[in-house]
Amino acid sequence: LATLASGRSGTGLIRGGALAIVDGRIAFVGREEDLPSRFQADEEIDLAGRLVTPGLIDCHTHLVFGGDRSNEFEARLAGADYEAIAKAGGGIQSTVRATRAETEESLVASAAKRLNSFICEGVTTIEIKSGYGLDYETELRMLRAARRLGQIYPIDIVTTLLAAHTVPGDQERATYLNLVTEKIIPRAVEDGLADAIDGFCDSIGFSSEELQRVFRRARELALPVKVHADQLSDAGGAELAAQFSALSADHLEKTGAAGVAALARAGTVAVLLPGAYFDLREKHLPPIEQMRTMGVRIAIATDCNPGSSPLVSILTAMRMAAVQFSLSVDEVLAGVTREAARALGRHAETGALEVGKSANLAIWNVERPVELVYWMGSNPLFSRVWRGKKTSLTGSIDWGWRASNAP
Ligand SMILES: [Zn+2]
Repeated sequence: LATLASGRSGTGLIRGGALAIVDGRIAFVGREEDLPSRFQADEEIDLAGRLVTPGLIDCHTHLVFGGDRSNEFEARLAGADYEAIAKAGGGIQSTVRATRAETEESLVASAAKRLNSFICEGVTTIEIKSGYGLDYETELRMLRAARRLGQIYPIDIVTTLLAAHTVPGDQERATYLNLVTEKIIPRAVEDGLADAIDGFCDSIGFSSEELQRVFRRARELALPVKVHADQLSDAGGAELAAQFSALSADHLEKTGAAGVAALARAGTVAVLLPGAYFDLREKHLPPIEQMRTMGVRIAIATDCNPGSSPLVSILTAMRMAAVQFSLSVDEVLAGVTREAARALGRHAETGALEVGKSANLAIWNVERPVELVYWMGSNPLFSRVWRGKKTSLTGSIDWGWRASNAP
């Protein structure tokens, strides 16, 4: 068992471990010989030496959107630059147009295919942001689609309102910000559609001053905050996140020393997004060594989105984070379990194999944690347990164990 329990070193590995589940919660974690006799009469499953980790958590995705941007990808490969693509009506505005044209049902259907990839890799909690509607109806429709996915599939979905992603092409900044703070946020809260409020603090998004207003509204309505911070330039995003005690500050490629110190003081999790770093051929590393020195918690996510990170594999994100960001296996594992749970404010509920937590497990056809990071393009998932229920790889509930890609 790689418990990832806080207070244990490394991945909190227990060899010859046993784990008991009662009513969907973890009731015992420890060595097999220490398993209390009261659990021994119940259904018992021998995993034959396989590795068990907490169910994986992707704490930053834009999984719900219309269309895709494969044509732009092809144009970029042929030498077109991003600005030329944007001027030709491409970039985020093209995804906004495509998303506005979709119904809630069609958004659910297209996102479900991507969601299945995550379920197949042992993900039991995933965050989904809005941010491609940029109008009242579509932002709320995106969140309803995300909530609906959580009702259909055996996975916990955490929703984040990212209406402050960018200014829509058809509106003035001030008018749009007004719409976000006065109409979209209050309605999302009223309908229970958002678990957090996010904003893009960067040169192509919003300034720190503009987002202050958005986050004050979030605070008034008792919602936690997350920040897309300093991806393209040091725009003070990390300091802004700290000021509002944000759950997380994400990206952070260009964050300076003051920003890292602020995150450390606030206890805000740094979420690193290696997929976007890879796809944009970014060269400037996030300040990882400073984060370590100052004790900033680090999570890793796919940032699954149609533009800069069409990544539907958490295992690939783990591999990329290890190589591009020089993270250790322990840091990578913690980044997609314990720390990712914290980045969503769900650490009391999931993210570690600890008594009392929801029984969310990933069971792997490997012996050691490093193998989850070492292989590229292979999925060693043996089975997945969500809220104590064994779930198959197609997303439906299945009470029999099923191997994933066994030869
Ligand atoms: Zn993002």
